[in-house]
Amino acid sequence: MSFSVDVKRELCELRQPNCCALAECYGMLLFSRSFGLEKINFQTTNEAVCHRFAARIKKFFDIFSIIESGGEKKVNYKICYKNSEETAKIVSYFGYKSDINFINVEILKKECCVHAFLRGVFLAAGQVSDPEKDYRLEISLKNPLICKDFLELCTDLGFAFKISSRSGATMLYLKDSNVIEEFLTVIGATNAAILIMQSKIYKDMRNKVNRINNRETANIFKAVDAAIQQRAAIEILEKKGIADSLEPELVSAIKLRKENPEASLTELCRISSEPITRSGLNHRFRRILEIAQEKNKD
Ligand SMILES: [Zn+2]
Repeated sequence: MSFSVDVKRELCELRQPNCCALAECYGMLLFSRSFGLEKINFQTTNEAVCHRFAARIKKFFDIFSIIESGGEKKVNYKICYKNSEETAKIVSYFGYKSDINFINVEILKKECCVHAFLRGVFLAAGQVSDPEKDYRLEISLKNPLICKDFLELCTDLGFAFKISSRSGATMLYLKDSNVIEEFLTVIGATNAAILIMQSKIYKDMRNKVNRINNRETANIFKAVDAAIQQRAAIEILEKKGIADSLEPELVSAIKLRKENPEASLTELCRISSEPITRSGLNHRFRRILEIAQEKNKD
């Protein structure tokens, strides 16, 4: 799942306030290979994730981590604490005495921290399929004692994970592409969410275009590509809640595109109730794309 690698790289570039960094660290610990008084074992195939984890442990617990790497097909990075002083320091900090059998909501009082917690969970134990192939986001859960708390927390946010098991491990998964987009947005992987959205629109359009047996296929593709970009830009503006507050001429261009998602520019000009030239309309869409690109960076 190389798409996962990209998503995790995007997440590892995020900067965040201390409260969220701690919550993210908590999510990584709870969903690590093992998290308990006798041993804390964090494993990942993603080097950036491993370094991020080590940095958090240094920051909050002043414990230095030794990263071991190994593995045949894929390199595996591993950090293990067996020293009881170290494990006790970390485990008790999050409010556990012996069993790790609940999620400590004291750490997750702020909304930003809940999102950061989920980011940590995904970094430690999540995978997401390449949207070109499938829509599936899954989290592997090593500690079944926290399953109920985790599912409740996710359900409250609108992420109704389903449960399956694979070779003895519990897998929590989402299959609805809209929910996956939303989950990735919430944990901070907005670029990945937009890629899924675009691939969906593109697949949809490709299917329609494939049905058209026409000499002008090339031209249609060109129009479709432009239309996809415009629709993706409009979706970004809508998600940011600013689509309706743009200049009136842009708002009317957005309305026109939404009512005619696949029409070429020439067709749009013909359909438009106000008289407009092709280059005039093209100019408006260019502005819309620019604004969306700019806002998407915020
Ligand atoms: Zn926070």
